[in-house]
Amino acid sequence: MIDVIDLHKSYGKVEVLKGITVSIKKGEKIAIIGPSGSGKSTFLRCLNCLEDPTSGSIIFEGVDIADMRVDINIHRRHMGMVFQQFNLFNNKTVLENIMLAPVHIGISELRKKKVRNFFIKIGNLFAKNKKPLYEINTTPAKIKAEARDNAMRLLKRIGLEDKANVYPSTLSGGQKQRIAIIRALAMNPKVMLFDEPTSALDPEMVKEVLELIRQVAEEGMTMVIVTHEMGFAREVATRVLFMDEGKILEEGTPEEIFTNPKHPRTREFLSKVL
Ligand code: ADP
Ligand code: MG
Repeated sequence: MIDVIDLHKSYGKVEVLKGITVSIKKGEKIAIIGPSGSGKSTFLRCLNCLEDPTSGSIIFEGVDIADMRVDINIHRRHMGMVFQQFNLFNNKTVLENIMLAPVHIGISELRKKKVRNFFIKIGNLFAKNKKPLYEINTTPAKIKAEARDNAMRLLKRIGLEDKANVYPSTLSGGQKQRIAIIRALAMNPKVMLFDEPTSALDPEMVKEVLELIRQVAEEGMTMVIVTHEMGFAREVATRVLFMDEGKILEEGTPEEIFTNPKHPRTREFLSKVL
């Protein structure tokens, strides 16, 4: 699904990613572990096109998304991202947060079709072989209603349907993060990227968030998760990558990495965190 080939990223003279190569298959759950400052967040941000790589390729379903010419918005919508700091819009209600992107995309697609049809119609005035128009069977109101239904279904799933009309500031960290997760799911992404999703939470809220991520994993979602929750990584991940100083130093099954790490740096890191 994703092929990362010799990915480099520098900020000024500082090289933060020093040649990352990794293939992610559909349905895999990849846990990325490693010391702070090793480039884990930068790597996720490159995957999601929040950063432009300095060199290298990221092939997502056959298209190089590191190439400046591709429309990254089309690809980004297939990647759900969940951040440490939740990143909910505080001036919007929970329901609005979840509906925002699906409505925006639905309506902009509708507009694009209308504009294309306009030009096809003009072309058809002069053409012998008339081109077919795009079929339009929706309206902005329908798009909004569908997004609302979907958001409510997702809220029900996490038991927070009664929070639909409140603002994020009234929620606990665990509730905010679970809403951030379903907000990403509302886009029907093909991949979910998590950057330390439980690191900003009070300890008693970590479990509910990990439980939701575990459910999403069990439903077959392809996931990349940067985490310090080693127990969780061990249980849920199909593969673990150990990053240090901008490189993947070691990768393997959770069993291999956690019980028999080969690289001395992996051993040293694990001895500190386990
Ligand atoms: P990790 O997530 O593993 O802790 P990061 O990817 O956040 O690591 O950071 C890796 C290195 O890149 C750090 O040394 C950090 O200071 C640097 N860095 C990250 N973002 C920027 C930026 N926008 N500008 C300059 N340096 C950055
Ligand atoms: Mg980070």
